[in-house]
This record gives sequence, structure tokens and C-alpha cells, in this order.
Amino acid sequence: MPADTIRITPIPLGFVNAFLIRGKQAVLIDTGNPGSADRILHALGEQGLAPHDLALILLTHGHGDHVGSSPVLREKTGAKVAIHIRDADALRTGRGPNLTGTNALGRVFAVLLPRPIRGFEPFEPDILIEGELSLQPYGIAGKVVPTPGHTAGSISVVLENGAVFAGDTIMGGMGRKGKPRFPLFAEDAARAKESIAYLLGQAPESVYTGHGGPFSPAELRAVFP
Ligand SMILES: [Zn+2]
Ligand SMILES: [Zn+2]
Repeated sequence: MPADTIRITPIPLGFVNAFLIRGKQAVLIDTGNPGSADRILHALGEQGLAPHDLALILLTHGHGDHVGSSPVLREKTGAKVAIHIRDADALRTGRGPNLTGTNALGRVFAVLLPRPIRGFEPFEPDILIEGELSLQPYGIAGKVVPTPGHTAGSISVVLENGAVFAGDTIMGGMGRKGKPRFPLFAEDAARAKESIAYLLGQAPESVYTGHGGPFSPAELRAVFP
């Protein structure tokens, strides 16, 4: 395998996705709801990886459906957990950032969503991200970029091979691919729009989303011209 080859393995966990990215080392993006650790470790095993082969657990933001299995996975793999500093308090309280609906459906969901998305076992992250973060030290040709809006500490991953991991900055379907759309929830909708424009400005070849997806540039242009 050439040095710059990156292998991407989506790990579907019900209505939310985690992702394993592998270059010279392996990085996990998001950890699903509480109770998802065994499925994630199984996915690692299918890729021929032992738990301790995981170099980093990177959280796209502080909502429970993305961070819920982090404490267990950290214990079982020894990998450090990284999150943007502005969503770190969500991990410490175990409540996750507020859900602010961006449309009628989002406002209904914000009230009705079950507890697993709202709450999880509190934990202290190991690495606090502030600006951009190169993934070179973890064997991945790419970087973390702040993409605030869905939450204040939302981040995305931009790889040199054209793959982008947008977390909930761009949303697809719940459990199905769906169509790309503006997130149902945003702490700051104007900034979320700017973050989407920024990601599309990176000329991605493929955008992987926390729910549904992935999406091609043509599918994204049809929704975010
Ligand atoms: Zn979210
Ligand atoms: Zn989500």
C-alpha cells in the first residue's frame, strides 16, 4: 500500500455513523451512542486491527450519539480522546450541547429525542482542539478543521485524498443515505452555513456525514449551490 493511501471504513451504528480511517496508523471518528463499543471493536477486528492499534479517537462534536461510547473505547484501546475545546464541557457534564432546532422538525425532535442522545457517562477528554490540527502525527495525511454552528465546538476532518468527514455540520438521512441537508439542530445557524460553505470550498470528492451519506460533490451542489 503506498504511503499516502488512506482506507476509510464506515461503521454504521443504527442511525449514526462512526468511521475508521487508516493510513500509517488508525484513527476513529466518533463513537456512537453509549453501548456501541463492542460493534466498533468488532469493526476494528474485521480490518485486522487489535484495540491497541487505534491511535486516536476524534469526536466531531459533543452530542451523545457521537461521543457516548468514548469512555469505554478509551479504556479498551488506550487511545486518547480529542474534542474541540468549546464542546469539552459537554463531555464533563455528560449532557451534550443544547439542541436548538433549525426548522419545525428540528424543534419537535429537540423536545422528543430519547435520553441516550441527551445524556451519557461524563468523562474528561485527553486532547483539546482549538484551531486546525494536523493528523500527520497519527499517520493520516489530513487535518481537523473547526466547523462551528451545529455546536460551538463542531469539527470536520479534511483528508488530502479529497475525503471530508463533516460530523453533523451536514446531515443525511437517519439510518439511510438520504439527501444532504442543513443540520436539524444548530446552536448558531449562520455559522453553520459558513462552515458548510467552507467545507464545500475544500473541493471534496466525497463527504461522509454522521447521519446518512456519504455524498458526492454533485449531490451537495444540488442542495447547497
Ligand atoms: Zn449533533
Ligand atoms: Zn448526530
